[in-house]
Amino acid sequence: MFSKEELNILETKKNILEKKDIDLIITDLDDTIFSTKEAIEKDIRKWRRWEEGNKYIVEVIWIKKFIDKFYLNKIYPKSIVSKLRKNHDLIITAWYKDIQLEKLKACKLTHINYRIVSNPEEKIIETIRYIVNKLNFIPSKIIIYEDRPKFFIEYKDFLEKFLWIKIKIIYVEMINNEIEPKLTQIYT
Ligand SMILES: [Mg+2]
Repeated sequence: MFSKEELNILETKKNILEKKDIDLIITDLDDTIFSTKEAIEKDIRKWRRWEEGNKYIVEVIWIKKFIDKFYLNKIYPKSIVSKLRKNHDLIITAWYKDIQLEKLKACKLTHINYRIVSNPEEKIIETIRYIVNKLNFIPSKIIIYEDRPKFFIEYKDFLEKFLWIKIKIIYVEMINNEIEPKLTQIYT
């Protein structure tokens, strides 16, 4: 899944990092911080999801129209966002860069570090890249907030061994943007 060469480079850099007694929060965006329920219910993407849905937004609906209608000036739950520390924690989101960036801007979240990766599996290597290249120390643990934690569950052992760290995965269930999400710790 990951390039061995990149992993080796990251490992060399990781080996000289100091370990600090500070947690790192990593959270997803869609349906973790901001609910996509309204956009889907209004059938604007004709029930197209993920890649197909994003392509439809870019080619048919237009990004600006989509963002203005569903994201701009909206109030949304703050239980996860309120925990995020500027220049420290990370929002990591996948798929179309142009759409995801506009969502982050509309939700006024660009003051938090963010990464937009091309697919959900890439969040794993991006987590390592972030710690090694940006955070510059090994945190005491990582707390992951995800509505689709599949890859973090699958690679939890790998990440824990690679980073000498504990990972706590919190499954996020959003009902809509009016109600705070239900948070459940996943034990693997
Ligand atoms: Mg999500």
